[in-house]
Amino acid sequence: MQYMKGVGPQKVLLLARLGIATVDDMLTFFPRDYDDRSCVTQISAIREGQECTVNAKVVSVASRKIRRGLSLLTVIVADGSGTLSIVFFNQPYLKKYFVPGKVCLFSGKIARKYGFSMASPTYEFLSGDAEDTLHTGRIVPVYSLTEGLSQRGMRRLIRQTLDMALPWAQETLPVFLREKYKLLARKEALLAIHFPDNEDGLQAARRRLIFEEFFVLQMGLAMRRRELDDVRQTTGIVFSKNHRLMDDFLQALPFRLTGAQKRVVDEIMADMTAPRMMHRLVHGDVGSGKTIVALCALLLAVGSGYQAALMAPTEILAEQHFLHIKRLLAPRGICIACLSGGQSKKEKEALAVAIANGSIQVIVGTHALLQDTVTFHRLGLVIVDEQHKFGVLERATLKRKGHSPDMLIMTATPIPRTLTMTVYGDLDVSMIDEMPGGRKPVRTFLMSDAKKERLYRFVREQIAAGKQAYFVYPLVEESEKMDMKAATVWHAHLSQDIFPDISVSLLHGKMRPKEKEAVMLAFKQKQSHILVATTVIEVGIDIPDATVMVVENAERFGLAQLHQLRGRVGRDIHQSYCILVSSPKTEEAHRRMQVMCNTCDGFKVAEEDLAIRGPGEFFGVKQHGLPELRIGSILSDVRVMECARQDASQIVNTWSLYKQDPEIPHLLKALHRRYQDKLDCSAIG
Ligand code: ADP
Ligand code: MG
Repeated sequence: MQYMKGVGPQKVLLLARLGIATVDDMLTFFPRDYDDRSCVTQISAIREGQECTVNAKVVSVASRKIRRGLSLLTVIVADGSGTLSIVFFNQPYLKKYFVPGKVCLFSGKIARKYGFSMASPTYEFLSGDAEDTLHTGRIVPVYSLTEGLSQRGMRRLIRQTLDMALPWAQETLPVFLREKYKLLARKEALLAIHFPDNEDGLQAARRRLIFEEFFVLQMGLAMRRRELDDVRQTTGIVFSKNHRLMDDFLQALPFRLTGAQKRVVDEIMADMTAPRMMHRLVHGDVGSGKTIVALCALLLAVGSGYQAALMAPTEILAEQHFLHIKRLLAPRGICIACLSGGQSKKEKEALAVAIANGSIQVIVGTHALLQDTVTFHRLGLVIVDEQHKFGVLERATLKRKGHSPDMLIMTATPIPRTLTMTVYGDLDVSMIDEMPGGRKPVRTFLMSDAKKERLYRFVREQIAAGKQAYFVYPLVEESEKMDMKAATVWHAHLSQDIFPDISVSLLHGKMRPKEKEAVMLAFKQKQSHILVATTVIEVGIDIPDATVMVVENAERFGLAQLHQLRGRVGRDIHQSYCILVSSPKTEEAHRRMQVMCNTCDGFKVAEEDLAIRGPGEFFGVKQHGLPELRIGSILSDVRVMECARQDASQIVNTWSLYKQDPEIPHLLKALHRRYQDKLDCSAIG
C-alpha cells in the first residue's frame, strides 16, 4: 500500500485500523452504503417536502441565538438558478467551514419557511476540479471510516487503487459458473461495486461478489471435507460389535432411552464399528440427555480395549461428569480418572503414567487434556462435550494425540437447520430431537426488581417442598474479580437478610477447584438448598431437584447464555421455573426477554438470536470458527450459499476436470488470502 501515491506511513496506519494492508484488501473494502447523488436538483426546481441534493455556492453565513439553549446557523447558498437557506441548530462552530465562495453539496428535505430551506442536511464540500465527479453527479460510495480519514479521502484512495490495480485484477470464477449464473466479470464487478453507473449495475456487481465470497468459502470447506474424508476412509478404528458392556449398563439405568437417544446411539455404533473414522456431531437441546449417549460410545470403545477421553469446557462440568461416570462405571471394573487444573504436580505425574501405560481406561478432563505431557496408551475415542465452548483448534490438537481416534462432539448450541451444512460441513450430524418423557417446559417470567419480595416467598415455598434454587449473577465487568464480588455480596445478602434459616452456598470462578467440588457436592446432596453463582454453572450442570433458576440483571446475558442457564432446571419431571429479574432499557434487551418468556425451544431461541443480533455476531469467529463475511449475508443470501456449496463440492470432487481452468490458480490464491488462518487449507497448492 505504501508505494501508492498519497499513502504515507500515517495513512498506512489508518488503513490498518480498517483491516486494509494490501491492494486486494483495498479493492474488496466494499462500501457500507451509497448516496444517490446522480440527480442533483436545480434550486429553481425544488418542491416542498422533496428529498434532494443541490450543488451550490455559499453566499453568506450568519449565526444567532434564538433563545437560551438554541442557536441557529443560516447558510445562504445559490446555484445560478436560485437561492436556498440551509439551517443548522446548535452547531455554531460550523460557521468557520462555510466560507462564502466555497462549493458544497447538500442533501436533505426541503421545507417551506421564509422561502425554501433545508434543515440539518448532510453536506460535502467540492473542490471545483475534475475530481468532483467522484463525489457528485453519481451514486457515491459511503465507506466505514476511522478517525483521521474522510469520506472524500477514502473515495479518492479507492479510485486510485482501482485505476492502478484493476487492469491486473484476476478472474477467480471459472467461465462455466459465470455463464451459469450470468455473473459479471470480476473487474467489472469491482469497479461497479465502488462506483456504480446506476442501480442495476450496482445490483449486478453485488450479485457477483456475494457469489464469489460464498464460493471461496465453500471451496475451503469442501477441500477440508475432502481431505478429512481421505484420512477417515483409511485410518478409522474398527471397534468390536460386542455391545455387552453397553447393554448391561442400559439395563441397569432407572429409565429407558428415548427413541431419539436410541437412534443416535445406533448411528454412533454404525460409525464406530465401520472402518471409517467417526467424526460426528450430536446435537440436542439442553436436557435432552446427551451424556448417556456419550457413555454408550465410551463403553463400546472400552469394551474393544481402547482408551476413551471426555473433554468438558469447565472444571466443574468435568468434575460432575467424572463423579457421574465413576458411579456408573466403576462397579463394572472400569478404571476412570479425572485430570483437572487443581491437582498437585505429583498427582498429575502419577496420572500421566497411568494414562500412558493404559491402566486408566477413561479420562475425563478440561483443556488440561491438551497439554503436551499427556500421552495416551491406546486412545480410540474422543468425546467433546459442549463443543461451542471449544475452538476448532483445540479439537484438532486432541485428535492428533491418538492414532486417529473416533470423534464425537456434543453441543446444545442450536444452529438454524439451513446452516448446519455450512457450519459443520465436515461433520456428520445426529439430532436428539426429543425430550425424555414427563418433562414440562420451564415456565419463564420476567420480573422487575420491585417484585423481589414475591420472588423470595416463591423460592421459600419451593424449598419447603424439597426443591432447590439457583441465583445467577452476571459478569459485572469483563473481570472475574468484579464478577466474584457481585456474587459474594449477593450471597451475603441472601444468606443473612433474606434466607437466614436456609442453607445458601456460593460458587464462583475464583474458587479453588477443591472448594468448587465441595460446594457442588453439598448442593447435590441437598446440604444446601440455594446456590448463588456466577456463570460458572452455565453449561452442563445436572441437579434434577433444582426447579428454580433466578437470573439477576438478565438483560446483560445473551440469548444463548440465558437458554443454557434455563437448561439447568426442568431436568426431571417437576415443574420448573426461570425468573429473569430485569428492567430492560433497550428495545433489543426487551426483545430478548420476550423471546425467553415465549419459548423453551432451543431452535426458536437460536433463530430469534440470529434475527436480533444479525449473522455477523452470531457466526463470529469465536462462536463457530467461521470467518466474517464482507458482503454476503448468511441470513438473507442463504440460497446463494447453497448454490455455491454445490458448485464447490462438484469442483473439489471432480478436481481433474477443473484443475486446468485458467481461473483456478487465482481462485486458490483468493482462498488462501482470505481464509488461510481460519480454515485449514493445507490441501491447497
Ligand atoms: P444434556 O443433554 O443437557 O447434557 P443430560 O445428559 O445431562 O442432558 O441429561 C439430563 C437429565 O436427564 C439427566 O439427569 C439424565 O439422567 C436424565 N435423562 C437422560 N436420558 C433420560 C431418559 N431417557 N429418560 C429420563 N431421564 C433421562
Ligand atoms: Mg450435558
